[in-house]
Amino acid sequence: MTNHARSLTSAHDRLLHYVGGAFHESESDGWIASVNPSDETDIVGYVPEGTADDVRAAVKAASDALPRWRALPGPARAEHLTKWAEAIATRGEELAQQMAREVGKPIGESRGEVARCGMILRYYAGEAVREMGDVIPAQSPGALQFTLREPLGVVALITPWNFPLAIPLWKAAPALAFGNTVVLKPAEASSRMAVLLAETAEKAGLPAGVFNVLLGAGPVVAEPLLREPAVRAVSFTGSGAVGKLVAAIAVDRNIRFQTEMGGKNVAIVLHDADLRQAAVLTAAGAMRYAGQKCTATSRVVVDARVEDAFMNELRRELDALPIGPVTDAATALGPVISARSRDSIHRALRESNAEVVYQGRIPTDDAYACGFFVAPTVVRGVGPDAAIAQQELFGPVLASFAADDLAHALALANGTLYGLSASLFTRDLRSALTYIPQIEAGLVRVNGDTTGVDPHAPFGGIKGSSSGSREQGSAAREFYTEIKTVQVNP
Ligand code: NAD
Repeated sequence: MTNHARSLTSAHDRLLHYVGGAFHESESDGWIASVNPSDETDIVGYVPEGTADDVRAAVKAASDALPRWRALPGPARAEHLTKWAEAIATRGEELAQQMAREVGKPIGESRGEVARCGMILRYYAGEAVREMGDVIPAQSPGALQFTLREPLGVVALITPWNFPLAIPLWKAAPALAFGNTVVLKPAEASSRMAVLLAETAEKAGLPAGVFNVLLGAGPVVAEPLLREPAVRAVSFTGSGAVGKLVAAIAVDRNIRFQTEMGGKNVAIVLHDADLRQAAVLTAAGAMRYAGQKCTATSRVVVDARVEDAFMNELRRELDALPIGPVTDAATALGPVISARSRDSIHRALRESNAEVVYQGRIPTDDAYACGFFVAPTVVRGVGPDAAIAQQELFGPVLASFAADDLAHALALANGTLYGLSASLFTRDLRSALTYIPQIEAGLVRVNGDTTGVDPHAPFGGIKGSSSGSREQGSAAREFYTEIKTVQVNP
């Protein structure tokens, strides 16, 4: 690694690792372009594939920083997190603009994500000063017995591109709050955002080595990272295929892991629903950010009695969702992340032979010519086992199914390998109370959008969507600490 005093990139827009409190260039032979999804001629930066030396240096920096950081009192760690929130807020608009550029997130949602970063950091600043154990009556007379929650050590965070600041932070903030040190391996397609995040950490005065950003290709750096002896836990968010690999390595090493993976999230619309509300929230859940949220609504199951009426409402709502440049505050739906993603969504639609019941129109002017745009599309007429009903497309595509009643709707809703997020639209309390225990999802809504979750509420799925403990809220303490049971005898 070559040391650079303080800059985002070296010559030729090569992105720099942030390790041990300084920016370093990788000695990597290979470089991956991070491309603006709205304009493929705009290279946001070149990401090093990474080397074994890069991995070792990042883990060494985190290990060296661990003793002092874990010994720091909780209130002092809280102070650091609060300062980090302030450093992010100071550069908030710039971060939002860069997010729109690097991952194609419409600017309104990018601004929302930046604001959420402040909430996350402030919440975990509070967690760092809360009680960290219990007093438990001992059998032995006069003994004091209690539990302590202690940090795990160095934790690896492997993250996807779609929430390029919020996901790294909702892992890093609790890890740091509870006294761990961090090596973050961001997705290649959001590496520049991760480096910007490192700049804010540096500006906030986070001690050197506490938070490190290791750039690189997943198989080249993330797998060796997980095999480093000092790494005691991994928190992963990404695709199911990679999540299973990560879990296998973690099991092999007997280190703690959590994997947050894909979804095939469902909205159920019953005959007594407020159809307008259901249409507004289903359209938003399915199509905003071009359907690239892990909690995006990709299936809708509608009571056959109101199917036509619901579809009419849905079409109206979809027509009203602005497709446009991601820099425009009104835009709801921009490009998908890559040409590969665009092409695989188009292929899946072609091969499904589904009946297209709605297709939006991508404007034909120059502003859209070099971007990876996919028209918002609603299909029906496929069986519940069809690929398009089962596989995560990660695009603005909604598959619709008709159901005879709630029991049938629940069977269709539960008929996938995933179990991340679900919503039921109804005015009937009994239907809601039947659905809540029977729906196979970790995030369960009634009359709500399948996307989004409060940053202080536990987040995660069941079945193929997640393994390990939940993220966020009080659940994060379970993951990032371990319990020591102490007995002191007279
Ligand atoms: P991805 O699985 O391709 O990549 C995720 C991360 O894993 C990246 O940092 C990547 O470099 C790394 N990686 C790749 N190969 C690896 C390997 N062999 N070993 C270790 N790490 C490796 O996912 P993506 O395309 O970045 O993100 C999209 C996916 O993320 C979707 O499936 C989406 O549903 C999921 N996601 C889930 C949640 C959730 O909380 N459940 C949230 C956001 C995104």
